[in-house]
Amino acid sequence: MARALPESHEVVHRSCPLCEAHCGVSVEVDRTSQTVVTIRGDEADPRSGGYLCPKAYGLKGLHEDPDRLRGPQRRVGPRGDPDATWEEIGWDEAFDLVGEQLRAVREAHGPNSIATYIGNPTAHDLGSLVYGQVFQRALGTKWRFSASSVDQLPKMMSSAFLYGNPLGFPVPDIDRTDFLLMLGANPLVSNGSLCTAPDFPGRLAKLRGRGGRLVVVDPRRTETAAIADEHLAIRPGSDAYFLFALANVLFEEGLVSLGPLKAFTNGVEEVQTLAKDFPPEAVEAATGIKAATTRRIARELAATERAVCYGRIGTCTQAFGTLSSWLVDVVNVLSGNVDRPGGAMWPRAASGPGVDPPRAPGPAPYGRWHTHVRGLPEFNGELPVAALAEEIDEAPEAERVHAMVTMAGNPVLSTPNGARLAKAFESLDFMVSVDIYRNETTRFADVILPPTGQLEHSNYEMVFDLMSVRHWSKYSPRVMPKPDDARDASEILSELAGRMAGVGAEVVEQVMLSSLLAEAVGRPGTPCPDVTEAEAREKLGDMPGTDRVLDLLLRAGPHGDRFADASDGLSLERVRAAEHGLDLGPMEPRLPAMLATESGRLELAPPVFVEDVERLRSDLAARSGRDGLVLIGRRNLRSNNSWMHNVEALAKGPERCTLLVHPEDAARLGLVDGATARVRSRVGELTAPVALDAGLLQGVVSLPHGYGHGAPGAQLGVAARHAGVNTNLLTDERDIDVPSGNGVFSGIPVEVAPA
Ligand code: SF4
Repeated sequence: MARALPESHEVVHRSCPLCEAHCGVSVEVDRTSQTVVTIRGDEADPRSGGYLCPKAYGLKGLHEDPDRLRGPQRRVGPRGDPDATWEEIGWDEAFDLVGEQLRAVREAHGPNSIATYIGNPTAHDLGSLVYGQVFQRALGTKWRFSASSVDQLPKMMSSAFLYGNPLGFPVPDIDRTDFLLMLGANPLVSNGSLCTAPDFPGRLAKLRGRGGRLVVVDPRRTETAAIADEHLAIRPGSDAYFLFALANVLFEEGLVSLGPLKAFTNGVEEVQTLAKDFPPEAVEAATGIKAATTRRIARELAATERAVCYGRIGTCTQAFGTLSSWLVDVVNVLSGNVDRPGGAMWPRAASGPGVDPPRAPGPAPYGRWHTHVRGLPEFNGELPVAALAEEIDEAPEAERVHAMVTMAGNPVLSTPNGARLAKAFESLDFMVSVDIYRNETTRFADVILPPTGQLEHSNYEMVFDLMSVRHWSKYSPRVMPKPDDARDASEILSELAGRMAGVGAEVVEQVMLSSLLAEAVGRPGTPCPDVTEAEAREKLGDMPGTDRVLDLLLRAGPHGDRFADASDGLSLERVRAAEHGLDLGPMEPRLPAMLATESGRLELAPPVFVEDVERLRSDLAARSGRDGLVLIGRRNLRSNNSWMHNVEALAKGPERCTLLVHPEDAARLGLVDGATARVRSRVGELTAPVALDAGLLQGVVSLPHGYGHGAPGAQLGVAARHAGVNTNLLTDERDIDVPSGNGVFSGIPVEVAPA
């Protein structure tokens, strides 16, 4: 029976924005004191049905965190000086200062002398996402960096080159599959990534309950591997060999079956030729997976009517990230498991950015410009963050980065060779951070502009509509009142865009709306060709901000009302009215209509991937001589990257930033459980407490990322008490996945000894 609420209490239903699952939460608020009373799972939410992980309770802690910044701050004292102090300043003064300084750098050194870095939480926040793009355009810089290049960029490469859209991720249809082959993912902890599936653990249990099989391929017996039907302990960084071997078996045993894809797929013969070099027996030593097992898995994939291969962060953040990501798609295509229920499918995103309708056919957005020092290629409008430090401290004076803008990011902790990046930040002429915390990165800023907290602004998960295992739509209203004199991220970024463009924020708003309308209405090829811009504007109203943008995207999206009053399609009004969210049905086949490659066909063997296979062959030959320890990462259920470590409710408990070591390796190295180990790589060294883990492959050690708190100047009291060590003191900015430039975090050569 539902508990009777005290009169002053209200329950607001919204989504948890802390990870890609976006579970429904019901937040109980005492309106008298304006405090969060409790947070529960929203049982009426059609996506999550009441499921929550422990991080959701951190929303209260984040809201109340005394270290969370509530107003603009300016540093007093030199950048990097541990004795520098911070003073609060007003918003107008802060905007003036940032505008003046950034314009001065741009005038002196050109727009590309200002680099931007966008952190992961931006993708979870509609205001930051939409207005962050507007601000970056106003800056005029092409030196854009983001957390994508330490995460999913290789998968975006695969989607761009194979299907014609970097954001067109094939999503494993886990609710209908009967065989899930999972590589480099641990959804029992992460709750899924590039696969929005609230209650991932429950969905996996249902898969197994209907007789399906879950096979996990991972160097560690992860929490997900522990509940799987089978765990294949693969050597770090060798996924491409395993996947090529699967393709080899499919070809050699006549198991290739493209089904309807055959009519519009290029490059199958080329892949067949490449796969000949990688029979299971030839890669057995490299992968550590017996050839007979690889053959059996390939046959199971082919024989199961509804099967899918899913690769995630471990397959991206390695030396062959692009090849591994591509080969996941290759295996799905060859086994006939693309674009059919139970396989890998594409949702029709309710808010439809860039995928609905498909973008115009054309070449993949790749290599249109390059970094100055190493010549690394741009992809999808951004450069690899592994090159950021050298673009500041090594590029010729006329080309180097002089100013930095970070948004909701902490690259000092989350990108390779964080120590070098921190040093490089000290040499900048100016830095501004849009962030709720003064963290290990934003402490280098001259000005920090903190937006409202998660519960203080409305939201919609636009990006994650693109990767949901079912079609859903849910609006998240503001739960707590917006404090006096606070600014939402959309307002901050719009104001900054205006300062850079020399216009007012209202002009920025109008220009942005006009460009979105031009994509949505009034001409052939747009979703609403028969609606004029004037008609659309009238229906959208004149209230600026993210709600109006969202209304436009929903109405013009594939489930939208197309501005027709009689339609029962989506509009913001309809989505808002459904406080628990709307279920819009399962994914449906979408090929070939959504292909946007230059040829209009599915390109299974893009030249840029084919060329990189030579590097893979060379690595196979070189592997036999390598026998040292390698480092991999991991995640914890109560943590997501670096930014939730200041919430006591999530940070407390046993030490999580430990170095996992296999007991036999530990015995050989003279380490015992709880001892301190010294870990050394080409770029740095650190010490960490040892935890023995027999579930780890021998020769592999593991550290989580996002730790290394307690830096002077940061204001993260709780995190500093659970500081841990920064694994990115060990990762090497020179070690990249060559086609994408993505950082490598899996398979870092290290030496380990007692400290
Ligand atoms: S899995 Fe946890 S962190 Fe992720 S959305 Fe759900 S409750 Fe939030």
